[in-house]
Amino acid sequence: MDNLSEQKLLDDNLQDALRRQMQAYEQRYDMQTGLLNYQSFQESLAQMVRGRDASREVALVWIDILNLRREFALWGSRGTEALVARVAESLRSAVNGNAMIGRFSARCFLVAMEAAKFNRADRRRIQGIADALAPLRAPSSCNKIETAAGVAFWPSDAVTADELTRFASLAASRAGYLKSPLVHAFRAGMNHHVLRDHLLEVEMRKCFESGTEHERFRIAYQPKIEVATGNVLGAEALIRWNHPELGDVTPSEFIPVAERSELIHGIVQFTLNTALRDMQQWHKLGLSLPLISVNMSWANLRRDDFVPAVRARLTQIPISPARLELEVTESVLMDDEDLFATRVRQLKAIGVRVAIDDFGTRYTGFNVLKRIPLDAMKIDRCFIRGIDRSRDARALYETIVAMARQLKLRTVAEGVEHAGELEVLKQIGCDAAQGYLFQRPVPAAEFEAFLRRWSGVAENQGIAHYNGQLATQRAG
Ligand code: C2E
Ligand code: CA
Ligand code: CA
Repeated sequence: MDNLSEQKLLDDNLQDALRRQMQAYEQRYDMQTGLLNYQSFQESLAQMVRGRDASREVALVWIDILNLRREFALWGSRGTEALVARVAESLRSAVNGNAMIGRFSARCFLVAMEAAKFNRADRRRIQGIADALAPLRAPSSCNKIETAAGVAFWPSDAVTADELTRFASLAASRAGYLKSPLVHAFRAGMNHHVLRDHLLEVEMRKCFESGTEHERFRIAYQPKIEVATGNVLGAEALIRWNHPELGDVTPSEFIPVAERSELIHGIVQFTLNTALRDMQQWHKLGLSLPLISVNMSWANLRRDDFVPAVRARLTQIPISPARLELEVTESVLMDDEDLFATRVRQLKAIGVRVAIDDFGTRYTGFNVLKRIPLDAMKIDRCFIRGIDRSRDARALYETIVAMARQLKLRTVAEGVEHAGELEVLKQIGCDAAQGYLFQRPVPAAEFEAFLRRWSGVAENQGIAHYNGQLATQRAG
């Protein structure tokens, strides 16, 4: 063999070796970050716990990057690649060689380390890993990184690598749900929550996909009463679900599940449709109901087709848009103030009213509220308790009402249960009240009866008539 062909053979061998090494590397590592990929991480984790001395506990930390998808949508892969590289770098320096790090999916990272569940220093070390990511910003948008982290321990929480990973993921989804910066520890109950949520989602989907939602979902109505006159100002539509096996499921349980999927769009359409039709019916019967309120979720508002869908409904069921009010909880303001302001303006442009719900739970500032053209403020029911007994509680309520007045918002007191509370609301000058004192949420037929009863006596007889109504109401 001459020198030249000898050299070629060497080159070929070298190339082959390189290719083989590359392939082996690709099989084991995530190419973008150089971290272990999911499969090899799981294999190593399984090895780590197999036959291990139970006193040497292992912590598995699961970290989700919550806003990665949004960054991708905004900036494409270049924006997210740089962010992911920063995450990997921060994780490496945070664990300082004392842990195994892997990447599960585009947005999920795993860290396995020796750490004890009830050792404070170890728990601080684990929290430190999540904290190390907190200052990171996406290079393209400069948005802060949003993470959710959970931890599960071997052998106290789980005995296999697979179960350990599953439980750490459950704990992380709990942290994401609560929007908490803390690393959430797995608890046995989480398994139950997740299974229940899954069941509810499947059952709701079945119902909406088969078009049988009218059989299982109903709308209950609760009146809003004008404090000064006792007249019925409006009604809030509240969804109810009766499942053949699960029985009554409360909206506080199934609405958050629906919000995490596209099901919430079916729900808002159903509620709007039913509420507008019932309103039309009462109108035909000559019953006075100036306003109907429907709850909407942040997930509804996020969609570009939401406002057009509301407008379409209002043309199908001809009701003046000014008689529809949409309630949206204060917490959405925190999520995306600009988008919220835009949607409110769009709704105002088609003539619909917007109320901010559960006000006071999130400390929304005056300046934020000033730039959003809202119509009403519903003061969260946690503030009403004790306003007739405690000076501080009353003073706080007065301040909230004064603030709303400055903003030219109609005030609605939520959760009014006692006559004493109503008396204070009158003195403070709150516009409207809603609560069990007047009427619990009831099905349409019962609400119709309520409307008849309430307005049966001649209208506008002032407070005396109103107190009389309350007395009969309670006696009934
Ligand atoms: P929310 O909008 O704050 O609705 C008021 C809740 O307070 C209702 O609970 C109502 O039954 C209850 N309530 C009314 N008066 C009183 C009172 O005097 N005392 C007390 N303790 N509670 C009172 P509900 O119907 O269980 O609804 C819970 C939450 O579920 C609602 O809170 C709302 O956020 C959500 N929700 C209900 N229906 C819908 C819907 O159609 N769409 C959406 N997106 N969310 C809905
Ligand atoms: Ca509401
Ligand atoms: Ca509320």
